[in-house]
Amino acid sequence: MTDIVNSVGQILITEEEIKARVTEIGERISRDYADKEPLIVAVLSGSFIFASDLVRALSIPVDISFIYASSYGDSSESSGQVDIKTGKGGLNAEGRDIIIVEDIVDTGRTLSAVKQFLFDKGANSVEICTFLDKPSRRIVPIEAKYMCFDIPNEFVVGYGLDYAYKYRQLPFVGILKPEIYEK
Ligand code: 5GP
Repeated sequence: MTDIVNSVGQILITEEEIKARVTEIGERISRDYADKEPLIVAVLSGSFIFASDLVRALSIPVDISFIYASSYGDSSESSGQVDIKTGKGGLNAEGRDIIIVEDIVDTGRTLSAVKQFLFDKGANSVEICTFLDKPSRRIVPIEAKYMCFDIPNEFVVGYGLDYAYKYRQLPFVGILKPEIYEK
């Protein structure tokens, strides 16, 4: 891990802080959905680490599905286009109480598209659980019922979030050194 950690200029959220907060959010969801058996829909790729930690913090039965949504390509600026794909068997959302699990809400475009997609597939209810939120960047009004951390308007990596497809495995959330983006 030493090499990639060397590319990090600042750690914003530590591994310990993440663990404590994910546990707390997991307990809250378990209470709120105690009689519901929700369907967790994790938005790939960025949420894969958060989703796997979150579901292990839940004490209620849940189903887990994955959808792929991309809006960024290999740059750090949003393209504004959201491309949504499900796995081979599709996604059965009919009548389900769904919790979308996302890595970060930035402009809100991705989640608003994913939410609409799930309602179009017949979901009964759709709530959002995001690991990070950048409220100052919002273009499309969207609110997450569950949110782990509010962050300032900085491009962050780690805990599932990438820069040019790398750095997802960092166990904390950080900002890369400026020279990494300039490469
Ligand atoms: P939105 O559609 O809300 O603008 O963007 C959501 C998506 O943009 C996230 O799922 C994530 O993939 C990407 N994104 C937004 N901000 C950041 C960031 O600070 N770091 C990284 N790595 N991805 C981001």
